[in-house]
Amino acid sequence: MPELPEVESTVRYLKERVEGLSIERAVILWHRTIALNRGKSFSQQVAGATITEVFRRGKLVGMRLAGASDQFLFTHLRMSGSLDVLPSSFDVAPHDRVIIFLSNGKSIRFNDTRKFGRMYLTPSPDEVVRSLGVEPLSAEFTPELLQRLLAGRKRAIKPALLDQSLIAGLGNIYVDESLWRSGIHPLSPCSSLPEDAWRSLRRSIQEILSEAVSLLGTDFGDGVVDGGMYRPSVYGRTGERCPRCSGEISRIVVGQRGTHLCLSCQPKPRKARHRVKLTRGAKAPSQKRRKR
Ligand SMILES: [Zn+2]
Repeated sequence: MPELPEVESTVRYLKERVEGLSIERAVILWHRTIALNRGKSFSQQVAGATITEVFRRGKLVGMRLAGASDQFLFTHLRMSGSLDVLPSSFDVAPHDRVIIFLSNGKSIRFNDTRKFGRMYLTPSPDEVVRSLGVEPLSAEFTPELLQRLLAGRKRAIKPALLDQSLIAGLGNIYVDESLWRSGIHPLSPCSSLPEDAWRSLRRSIQEILSEAVSLLGTDFGDGVVDGGMYRPSVYGRTGERCPRCSGEISRIVVGQRGTHLCLSCQPKPRKARHRVKLTRGAKAPSQKRRKR
């Protein structure tokens, strides 16, 4: 699933190819992709508009459309969505959901195998992005802010970092990577983290996201981000060696999300209980549970 770095790659790709062009027409091939659209039909509203800016907010691709009335088109790629720019003469591909024809003979294809992706067309961007939290690569994202947002919470650190209303753009991959780099166990209650952990965590989040953005994100071979060169250190590497201590990388489940970590670099908090999925050669952790 695309996260901030993969969405940023998509935004940069689109910026070079569509900014300044006008839209001739749009064809909707799967109606449920259009999740928000006020007034006239989607196609009628975007036809004739100029794409003046492509930008990112959290995991959303945004386009500013200037026309008879100014609009914003946001796309959430969700699990399998991708936005490509192809010659308009190319055939419709099997999972194309929306095609936006441009003035230069090319078209934006929103292809989405699993159909979870959504497009939102609105005159007021707040309607779509209001609930999103701070951008983790912005100057605003300081250790103090991170601590202020999370330190008072009893919940585990991983689900708190995944909460888009607190920090926008992080997902499963980059949260696992950031917690590993900071040596924090994903089940550590936010309220249990020492003062210096916030500084280290903020630095890890920014370093990892910046590295991943410069490498065009991670390529999972699903066509969402072709050629992403970021190679995770722990995510998806169950049973492999930790690049820092050579311990074995484990997989646990936190809030129903597969979570990858090194138990020597990220010691388990004393009270945390979790299910550990054992892999080949993995040592069984203590299964003892406290009786209630
Ligand atoms: Zn380690």
